[in-house]
This record gives sequence, structure tokens and C-alpha cells, in this order.
Amino acid sequence: MRVAAATTVLLALLLAALPLAQSPAPIGVVSAAGRRTLSTSVVNDQEYVALDDVSAFVPLTIREDRQGGVSISVRGKSIVAPRDRALVSVDGRVVALPAPVIRMGGRWLAPVDFLPRALGLVSEARIEYRRGSRLLLIGAVKVPRVTTRVETTGSGTRVTLEVAPPAGVMTVTDAEKVVVRLDADAMDFAPAVGTSPAVTQVRGDAPATVTIGIAPSAGDVRASTSNTDTAARVVIDITSPNQAPDTSSAPSAPQAPAPVLTPPRTGIQTVIVDAGHGGDDGGVHGAGGTLEKQVTLEVARRLKTVLEARMGVRVVLTRDDDRAVGPDERTATANNAKGDLFVSLHMSSSPSPATTGATVYFMRLDREGEETRREAGAQAIALPVLGGGTRVIETIRWDLAQARHVEDSGRLANLLAAALEGHVPTMPQPVQSAPLRVLAGLNMPAVLFEMGYLTNADQEKRATGDEGRTVLVQALYDAVNRFALAPPPGR
Ligand SMILES: [Zn+2]
Repeated sequence: MRVAAATTVLLALLLAALPLAQSPAPIGVVSAAGRRTLSTSVVNDQEYVALDDVSAFVPLTIREDRQGGVSISVRGKSIVAPRDRALVSVDGRVVALPAPVIRMGGRWLAPVDFLPRALGLVSEARIEYRRGSRLLLIGAVKVPRVTTRVETTGSGTRVTLEVAPPAGVMTVTDAEKVVVRLDADAMDFAPAVGTSPAVTQVRGDAPATVTIGIAPSAGDVRASTSNTDTAARVVIDITSPNQAPDTSSAPSAPQAPAPVLTPPRTGIQTVIVDAGHGGDDGGVHGAGGTLEKQVTLEVARRLKTVLEARMGVRVVLTRDDDRAVGPDERTATANNAKGDLFVSLHMSSSPSPATTGATVYFMRLDREGEETRREAGAQAIALPVLGGGTRVIETIRWDLAQARHVEDSGRLANLLAAALEGHVPTMPQPVQSAPLRVLAGLNMPAVLFEMGYLTNADQEKRATGDEGRTVLVQALYDAVNRFALAPPPGR
């Protein structure tokens, strides 16, 4: 009996010690063969895919090596994953991963990032992972981003659907709904921003159809489409009953300027935009004489205008002129303004003028920082309050404030990298974590965005030109908007 009881206890302990595996929603895989799914599992907070599942999309063979690692061959090239190390060697080149490739339940599991970062380097087809929408794109597939806003106008309700990059759209309107079909393999669909009593729902259905439900009490419905270089746009005007239709919104009328949006109903109220360098500190010198401090300030000012106009958030700049600002002053400005989000803007330099590509950094914690993060949740003291009860005071040290936000910062970094895809050239591994002093004291999710190489003549031209800056600001706006719209899992 005693032995049996001991065994039961041991078994219970063993089960408790096993890493908890959960199954999130599968990833959508879009390729020339159509749309399929790839299931994932979460082990130690990391999302993994099974390599034998991946072989259904990208032909590969898996072989265990004698040291307990695994080697994967693709088209005669090999990826070697050593045991317990968060990296792989891809055809001789070392690629960092967020976690090691592991063996579990008789299968080899790799972090999802393995797919674009490692497999993408040796596979025949291009591999892109859109984290925000959980889509894995394989090969030359057309998957535009679709955003929708709903707003009330003088004469009723306007729904604006934007498809970027532009794809063909077909619109069918009846009394209850407007159905918009896109000529695309799939779509990257973001939840609609704004509401109106005239609109019952805005729904995205695979592969690429958006349905806008119209309330039975609503008046006339009219849809029109237009195209720019960067997006296709569908404008649906729903007039209030007993009100004449607004002729300015007829299909032949010129496009109205994008109206101011209502603020998102999420926690994001204040965004801090940090223009790197300034004053005596010019930052990187471009091949043609451009200074990093000029580019960062220009982009910061534009981003402020766009975020305030489109999202209705408050934007605080850590500098709005050409002056030197120390890292502590930047941190203090951000924390005192009670920012919900921090984006620092920089440009990189390289001795090789050929080096190009943007990178998004977020804070990496060293061992001490990891412990701080664990303690951060508990580091509050309850003070007695006059009249009874207690008040909780947070006592986290400013210099390690970022420790409690690393996960959200990583999420923001990934959203920004996803928003850059297809618009701004990036490094092969666009998201990096590093122990960055400029971010350490920030008490909010924070990223440092190296927008490109100023030492590359082409990127210098883009960074100083109107179009290049617009594209950067659009990507930053997309990332902040998505971060504001999608609450982190488990909250
Ligand atoms: Zn810099």
C-alpha cells in the first residue's frame, strides 16, 4: 500500500513537472495549393509547430543526430538544430531562434519563427509569417491587408474598406448586406474600427470575402470603389431613413479626405514617439550627407500627425526640435506622460554601403532581469488608508521598469515587423532582442526601430523622400493600430 501511495505521489509530481502544452488556434497556411491549416502547441510560453506537419507544405526530411539534435534537409541543403540551443545552422549560416528545437511526444517541434527565419532561407518558395493574422504564406500568393472603419457622417453612416496592396474587388449590395469579394488567395483581415446602429456586423470570411450587415431600419445603401497605387477602397454610404442621400458621396464625386476616427476603445491613450539623437549628436551620417537626427525627427512628427488624426490618441514627442536629449530625459518624458506605448526611431550605419534593411528591437533581459520580471508582479506594497482599507503602491525600480513589459514589447515588435513586410525592406531577421539601455527604464511596451541603413545611398534617398517616409509612417501606424485593437492573449 505504502509503495502504491508513493508511486501515485511520484506520478503526480512528474505530471506537474511536465511543461504544459496547450493548443492555440491553428495557423492558416496559404499557398498555390489553396488554404490549409497547421496546428501549433505552446510549450513554456513558446508556440511550436511539428516538423513532420510542416513537411506537408515544404518537402523536408528529418534525421536525429548522435548529439541529441536534429538535422533537416531541404532540396539538398541542411538545417542543423543542436540540442538545447536557441539557434540553428542553415546551410552553414547561424540563425537565432526564440527557443530551441525540441523533441516532445516522439515528434520534433520548432518555434513558429523557424519557418520564415530558417526554412525560408533554403526552401524553393518564399515563406512569410504574418503574426498578427496568424497566416503563413508560401510562394507567390496574394494576401492583402483589409481594414474597415465605420463612422457616422452628416447624412448617415459611412463604411470604408481598404485593401492594401490593391486587389480587384467585386461588390454585391442588397437590402440586408453588402458583400465584397476580393481577387486574392486570402486576406489579412483586421477587426473593424468604429460602430454605427446602421451596421450590424463587419465579418471577414475565408478566403477573401467581407460582409457588411445592414440594419433593417437603415435607409438607402450605396457602394463605390476606387483605387490608388497603394490600396483599393470601397466606400459604402448608408443614408439615415427620411434623409436625402448625400450627393457628395456619389461614385463620380471626388474622394473625400479620410475623416478623423473615434479613439479605439482599448487601453492605448498616449503614444510616445522618440526621435533618436539631436543637437550635437547627429547620429549616423548618410552617404549623401543626411544626418540620422533629421530623418528621425521628420518621421516622428509625421507619425504624430497620423496617429492623432486617425486614432485619436495623444502623441508625445521626446523632442520636437533639433536639441540634444539624454536617454534618462527621454525615459522621464515617457514615464511622466504615462505613455501606453513607446517607439524610438533610428537609422543604422554600416561600413559596407551595400547593407540595407530595417530591424525592430525590443528589450532582452539578462538573468537578473528575468528574476526581476518574475518579481515584478509581486513588487507592490499595500499601505493602510485613512478610514480603513489599503492602497497598493507599486515599488518597481525605474531602471528595470521595462522588465514587466517585455512580452508586450515583443508583441509590438512583431506587429511592426509584420507591417513592414512587403513595404519596407528588412533584415533577414527583422525582430531582435537586445539589452538596450534606452529601453530599460520605460514603464510601457517599447520598441526601438532601426528604419534602414543611412549609409546605403538608396535607403538614404528613401528616408529623405516623401514616399519613403509615408511608407514608414504607414507601417508604424498599422502596428500601433493593431496593437491597440488586438488585446494580448489571456487578458
Ligand atoms: Zn541612432
